[in-house]
Amino acid sequence: MKALEIKGLRQIELVEKEKPVADERFSVIKVTHAGICGSDLHMFFQTGFILRPGYIIGHEFAGVIEETLPGSGFEVGDRVVAMDVTPCGNCEYCNSGRSELCAMGFAEAPGVGGVDGGYAEYCKVRNDFIRKLPENISLKQAAMIEPVCISMHAVNMCGVNENSNVLITGGGAIGLFAAAAAKAKGAKYIALTEANPGRIKIAEEADFVDEVFNAADPEIEEKIKAKVPEGYDISVECSGHPAAATLALYSLKRGGQHAILAYGPGFKYDAMAIINNELHIHGSVMFTVPEFEDVIKLMSEGKINVEKYGELIAMEEAQATFEGLSDGSKPAVKYIYDMSK
Ligand SMILES: [Zn+2]
Ligand SMILES: [Zn+2]
Repeated sequence: MKALEIKGLRQIELVEKEKPVADERFSVIKVTHAGICGSDLHMFFQTGFILRPGYIIGHEFAGVIEETLPGSGFEVGDRVVAMDVTPCGNCEYCNSGRSELCAMGFAEAPGVGGVDGGYAEYCKVRNDFIRKLPENISLKQAAMIEPVCISMHAVNMCGVNENSNVLITGGGAIGLFAAAAAKAKGAKYIALTEANPGRIKIAEEADFVDEVFNAADPEIEEKIKAKVPEGYDISVECSGHPAAATLALYSLKRGGQHAILAYGPGFKYDAMAIINNELHIHGSVMFTVPEFEDVIKLMSEGKINVEKYGELIAMEEAQATFEGLSDGSKPAVKYIYDMSK
């Protein structure tokens, strides 16, 4: 089969690999769509993720069951989506509904250091972390379920509801999907900040964003605060820029909730502002299995639709796309390998 391997620093290569086989615990998925994630970029640049040579990355993917053993609950041809987590289900965290913190979270997960991932024609995934897709969710959109779940987890940690005024800093895939998740949870008002003109336009056209503020505007803080004078209930930092994180914190009302989904050099949080206003700061990582199932349901009900944010590319375009993502010349919200290309 064809697969993409990280070969070394800034090197991703299309290679021929042996096709995986199904066993009692794993089924083989014929991958149709696999998305490129910011953490894949970290693997490409070897910042924060050290992977064994020859490992296949890719943890946002969907496809059809290619091979499965009796008793798996699946049949050949089922349209499915894979999770990139394998929590143990029986530890302190799993038992308290916080399986995203399980030590076994990535142990057998595809594309994040466990089993080989979805940048390939075929990928094996543990049966208990595969979900069938409703007919009305396309395989392309299904490849974006995982990143939507990353955003949904932060939105849930902050307790977004129909009374929430929400500020999202950063309009990349995770920020945009956080807005979509907050809207699906009924948020009253959603503001988003972004500096990149292309991304500003995309956010302005999104029906789940109420207002977009240009992060390059020197008066952005006054403008954002003027919209919700009592202060925002919730802010979610998705940009990785210290100035945006500061803005997100200072725009909150007293007792407000803040989730951090991105980080960058120079991050500093104002301890006095957090203490005096009793701000709740949430680090947010991955998602829980019920959240994954909830996002599938919300997509199926049409309450989340991110279909148009995926731009399809061929596996052969991997190296050029990774380079373009790092220098900013690739503007799409999400690049997705279409394995039929
Ligand atoms: Zn990801
Ligand atoms: Zn566990």
